[in-house]
Amino acid sequence: MEVVNRDTCPEMVIGPHCRDPYECPLTDCWEHLPEHSVFSLYWNGKKAFEMYNSGVINISEIPLNYRLNEKQLVQQASVISGKPHVDKEAIGEFLASLEYPIYYLDFETIGPAIPLFDGVRPYQNVPFQYSLHFVRDKNTEPVHYSYLTHGTGDPRPRLLAELQKVLGDSGSILAYNKGFEEGCLRDSATAFPEYSDWIDQVCGRLVDLLSPFSNFHYYHPAQKGSASLKKVLPAITGRGYDDLDISDGQIASLTFLAANYGDIPETDSEKVMSDLELYCGRDTEGMIWIVEKLYELCIGN
Ligand code: SF4
Repeated sequence: MEVVNRDTCPEMVIGPHCRDPYECPLTDCWEHLPEHSVFSLYWNGKKAFEMYNSGVINISEIPLNYRLNEKQLVQQASVISGKPHVDKEAIGEFLASLEYPIYYLDFETIGPAIPLFDGVRPYQNVPFQYSLHFVRDKNTEPVHYSYLTHGTGDPRPRLLAELQKVLGDSGSILAYNKGFEEGCLRDSATAFPEYSDWIDQVCGRLVDLLSPFSNFHYYHPAQKGSASLKKVLPAITGRGYDDLDISDGQIASLTFLAANYGDIPETDSEKVMSDLELYCGRDTEGMIWIVEKLYELCIGN
């Protein structure tokens, strides 16, 4: 009560308690930090608080006696120079591993604590939507395919059938953080074993577009220590998700549930479904832009 009855806010000091055991929703306490603070250093964890408490606030100020790993050193050098780090050789090897035609695949999923379908675990990611961009070769325009479930049935049988129709049997399949798409597919193979041979073959073709970024073969200061698609896409291409009403996977999942399992008006539901198409489509279109940019950086075309 003493704190509640005060006329002024108590002075708050940031610390590990802001994130553990739960992320505190208040952000004001962090606003005094500079753009490239030690808290945005890649995988810095609790060490960030040690640095902060010893007076080291900016990544550029970290003294030599702090042992940074290779990725953190790349980030620090990039912050100091203000320029992206580009390891052309490593990126070139990644691009050389891609086989045309290239497919760009992304799933949106739901994973409630209480499963909605038989045989599904609590929090298991069940795909309800995919976006797939198909690029036959470097000189052809992408073709877009998508599927979005309507209604309350298990979305997987129809989603798998639709995906099988458009995912040819050769060429690389790029996903961003491919473990997620692979997990969805492997779980689907368990539930629908008639697809398991095909899913094995599809998983063997998956290539992770996260890899050049999680390995810091490319790093832009605007990524702020993150290799997520939401950070990498605007950093490397200058284009992102700002023009969309749905701009992350969690919101996509919640709005899908509201539109199909809630009692929102049909017109709102139609808008949600259209927003979901735009959002998932942006993920795969964005991956194409990223690959084009990597080619441009490495090869100059
Ligand atoms: S962010 Fe939350 S937990 Fe951290 S100091 Fe501010 S109010 Fe406290």
